[in-house]
Amino acid sequence: MISINGLTKNFGELEVLKGINLQVEKGRVVVVIGPSGSGKTTLLRCLNILEVPTSGVVSIGEQTLDFSDRVANKHIAAFRRQTGMVFQGYNLFPHKTALENVMEGPLTVKKETKKAARTKAASLLNKVGLGDKMDVYPYQLSGGQQQRVGIARALAMEPNVMLFDEPTSALDPELVGEVLKVMKDLAKEGMTMMVVTHEMRFAKEVADEIIFMEDGIVVEKGAPATLFSNPQQVRTRQFLRMIQ
Ligand code: ATP
Repeated sequence: MISINGLTKNFGELEVLKGINLQVEKGRVVVVIGPSGSGKTTLLRCLNILEVPTSGVVSIGEQTLDFSDRVANKHIAAFRRQTGMVFQGYNLFPHKTALENVMEGPLTVKKETKKAARTKAASLLNKVGLGDKMDVYPYQLSGGQQQRVGIARALAMEPNVMLFDEPTSALDPELVGEVLKVMKDLAKEGMTMMVVTHEMRFAKEVADEIIFMEDGIVVEKGAPATLFSNPQQVRTRQFLRMIQ
């Protein structure tokens, strides 16, 4: 479903991604871990082209973008539509209700009818456990509830892949579980997911594969049972010792 080959990203002189190669099969959940500044967020942002890669080839589903050439904006827009992204901050529209927030993408980007967008948004809000909060505004919701609206909003675009960038880092500890539960349910339903998180319990429980990144490269990857209990690389061992 996702294929990344020789992906690099520079910010001016700074080489943030130094040639990433990764394959993620359909329905798999990949969790990306690594020290601050290792390039985890940049990797996700390059996958939905919020950052334009410096070089490399990225495929999602049937679509491929090769950044050795200039890529036309219309190709980027079509490519981006395949991914749903959930950010650390929820970035909801403050003057729209939960329902309107979820309807916005289908209405403006997918040009769905109001009725169809409303039906889908209501069903997604039910799915994330917010059936009783459809008509309230973001400020009336807890952080965990806002993040669940954020997930429903991403799902409303019917993406092939969901990208989560530290979706629980801004939450009070007691609100983390409700967001992770929604993510677990999505994984069980077979959604292809790439998740940057510091929630190691979630990683152990839900991930099919852990990617350990440091300094812009993938240092090691493997099934959680193997990578956490028997890391092969010194740098992975040092990182795991630091966070456990
Ligand atoms: P964290 O766990 O702290 O979020 P990370 O592994 O996600 O870190 P990135 O956010 O991808 O790391 O950042 C990698 C490096 O790229 C950092 O040195 C960061 O300062 C730099 N960087 C990220 N975005 C930009 C940008 N837009 N312009 C310049 N430098 C950037």
